[in-house]
Amino acid sequence: MKTLLLDLDGTMYRGNRMMDGGKELMDYLHFHQLPYLFFTNNSKRTRKQNMDHMLEVGYENIKETDFFTSAMAAASYAKMHYQERNAFYIGEDGLKEALIEHGFCLCDDHADIVFIGLDQHADYEKYSKAVNFLKQGARLIGTNHDRVLAQANGFSLGNGSVVAMMEYATGQKSPMIGKPYAPILEEALHYLHINKSECLLVGDNLETDVLLGVQNGVETAFVIGGVHKETDIARLGIYPDHIYQNLSELIVEF
Ligand SMILES: [Mg+2]
Repeated sequence: MKTLLLDLDGTMYRGNRMMDGGKELMDYLHFHQLPYLFFTNNSKRTRKQNMDHMLEVGYENIKETDFFTSAMAAASYAKMHYQERNAFYIGEDGLKEALIEHGFCLCDDHADIVFIGLDQHADYEKYSKAVNFLKQGARLIGTNHDRVLAQANGFSLGNGSVVAMMEYATGQKSPMIGKPYAPILEEALHYLHINKSECLLVGDNLETDVLLGVQNGVETAFVIGGVHKETDIARLGIYPDHIYQNLSELIVEF
């Protein structure tokens, strides 16, 4: 039985609304004790905030350990690849939690690494502070490279656009960590102690969820109803292994 790596926004819920078939799928997984992990580029929420949001949406029996975010992937990646531990970050509670859990010292006056995660309250002063640390030699690490985020009434600026701004300002490149790039997958597989042949990537976004699988030899399931439509498959040339209209259709796979 493969472990389901389930995207959150646009797959399990949209804002505060549960996606069709979500409850059936989760009840089935819980009843049969089948393995899964919520796997998201969104670095904003802590594990507990993610759990609380899922419960608020209407899911049941969700645990804090059910989540793996781009913030956790970025912290784990940096811990593995670099010696330095003094970090300055632009981000919200989820990134802060991940950095502390991975042993980073959060500082305001000296930084070896600047982490950039989605922060809807960051301002010019904070961005400029990050630029100064980077100009003084700190490494730049963005949690993910999403250009924009789909909202109910349009789009908002994605974290990747802020990372690109930092790269432009400093001439430094951030490693690519979030979906569709391999590091977030490698970190999640390491967290689960499984290999890539043992998981199925499930998501609504062809350019992140599905492309990650296509480029890394992982089986993919595209669920219609979020960012992309079925007609986008041929337009983008990104072909999932399975296409579902509704999350409950995944149940027949087991
Ligand atoms: Mg999504």
